[in-house]
Amino acid sequence: MQKPKNENFRYLYGPVPSRRLGLSLGIDIIPQKRCTFDCLYCQVGRTPKKTIKRFDYVNIGTLKAELAAIAKKDYKINFVTISGSGEPTLHNSLDRIIKAVKIVMGKKTPICVITNGSLLYRRDVREELMSASVVMPSLDGATSKTFEKINAPYKSLDYFRIIDGLVRFRQEFPGKIWLEIMLMEGINDSVSEAHAFNELIDKINPDRVYVNLPIRPAARRIRIPNDEVIAAFMNVLGKRAKLVRNDITDIIACTADDYRDKITQYLKRRPASISDLLKVFNISENDLTVLLDKMEQAGVIIRKRSQQKEYFSYND
Ligand code: SF4
Repeated sequence: MQKPKNENFRYLYGPVPSRRLGLSLGIDIIPQKRCTFDCLYCQVGRTPKKTIKRFDYVNIGTLKAELAAIAKKDYKINFVTISGSGEPTLHNSLDRIIKAVKIVMGKKTPICVITNGSLLYRRDVREELMSASVVMPSLDGATSKTFEKINAPYKSLDYFRIIDGLVRFRQEFPGKIWLEIMLMEGINDSVSEAHAFNELIDKINPDRVYVNLPIRPAARRIRIPNDEVIAAFMNVLGKRAKLVRNDITDIIACTADDYRDKITQYLKRRPASISDLLKVFNISENDLTVLLDKMEQAGVIIRKRSQQKEYFSYND
């Protein structure tokens, strides 16, 4: 196992609080931004070149060293979450990453993989995920038309094949499947789309269904449906679906020694408002505001407005 030179980790970020996962240590295994999709709501930006080719992106020795450094700290981590600044199943032999986490953090460590589900039609991808505890695939379109519009998939990816992959994965996977739907005004928020989602949910049979709202700045201009529309949509899905208005909880989780680095790492993965950052970092509002101003002047971050709120994003 190699020794990490410092705490500027290459793969790890957090731990960060998440409503669904509790305190989650993130592993970013895909460089920005390799993805099979180019979603309207993506927080990482547009996908320059969509792909379905899988590669080994992660150096397992470095990852293990970073995990060992985190394991020494007294964090009460609820989940190790494998995601990416792109689609994590584009990483070859994903099972090697899961195995590395279990070796260093303990074999009972709950591991969650967040995926767009586009490659689950492949047997090798499904098999590599078998030892995860939770897999969170997204499904934003209940018809091939809305799927194409929202997710803009790589040309050879067929909607029905993706649905079939999700159904097969359910039949084979012993862990939990938490399906995520991003709800967008005028795109997939109609009652008829909700009924179509219901049929798909019956078929896929996930353990949970989360309906998310595009609160943060996204690659394209999209809007949150109004409360009435959301209520009608949720009413059709019924009790099995849960609305997530914001995935930041009020857990104050991180004590960062170097706020500038940690905040930069955090903002590389997702835009955040001042109130989001205050919930994650143990820093006063005054110090945070001064720091964000300095980072903005240095061109490290930029301000953006979304849904009448101000967010900070990494300036890449
Ligand atoms: S939201 Fe996820 S699946 Fe969609 S383009 Fe961004 S990284 Fe890819």
